[in-house]
Amino acid sequence: MNLTIAANWKMYKTRQETKDFLDKMKAMESDFSSTQVIICPPFTSLSTAEESLRNSTLMLGAQNMLWEAEGAFTGEISPMMLKDNGVRYVIIGHSERRWVMGETNEQINKKLNAAFDYNLTPIFCIGEKEEMRKAGETEKVIMEQMDEGLKGIDAEKVKNLIIAYEPVWAIGTGLAASAEDAREAADCIQKKLQEFLGDNAKRVKILYGGSVKKDNIGDFVALPNIHGALVGGASLQVDGFSGLIKAAQKAVQG
Ligand code: PEP
Repeated sequence: MNLTIAANWKMYKTRQETKDFLDKMKAMESDFSSTQVIICPPFTSLSTAEESLRNSTLMLGAQNMLWEAEGAFTGEISPMMLKDNGVRYVIIGHSERRWVMGETNEQINKKLNAAFDYNLTPIFCIGEKEEMRKAGETEKVIMEQMDEGLKGIDAEKVKNLIIAYEPVWAIGTGLAASAEDAREAADCIQKKLQEFLGDNAKRVKILYGGSVKKDNIGDFVALPNIHGALVGGASLQVDGFSGLIKAAQKAVQG
């Protein structure tokens, strides 16, 4: 598959809405044959989504998890529970987890480790806040988040990672990064990956996220180091999301 496009539904959709959306997407899935489409619904919709996606090429992801298998962790969900619900991918370190819920690089590192231990593919989110960009610290922040998030993780595992570059100021604001900003960040991520992985660095997929829509996805996926997108708001309506995937495919295939 050339492209990876992941839908982050955040805290939206009931079970019925999940089923309705996925039924419609499945009916069109042959149109998405060159894209790995990953749907990340809220936890309450995971088992409904798992049932809907049986025998489908659309894949199931989760939006977060704790690193422990089980225990006294009220309100948390474990990698084992995600596996039990047919989940294959998990978003780790989303900016809303980092900056709204106070998640630290150390916690993110534990989550990434646990995801690999349970054979879940992490979609590891990194990106700078607006004030960090204004202070010229974008590259430093990206490098730090990668160094600390991936600390001590075996290179064999890291090469299966998906990284989402999501500048915080672009998420949910309608102000996407420019293609030039995304290219610079992706090049910097690729440089850091080479420190971890050498020649295998190119195996890691890098996604762009932040106000991606049907009309701008082509600008990002046309870049050499960007292999798809993590999409929030524009993944909530079937027409918009399916149109976005088709626009991405067209931009890549011509
Ligand atoms: C996201 O939630 O990861 C995201 C990129 O949101 P949006 O597409 O709405 O900016």
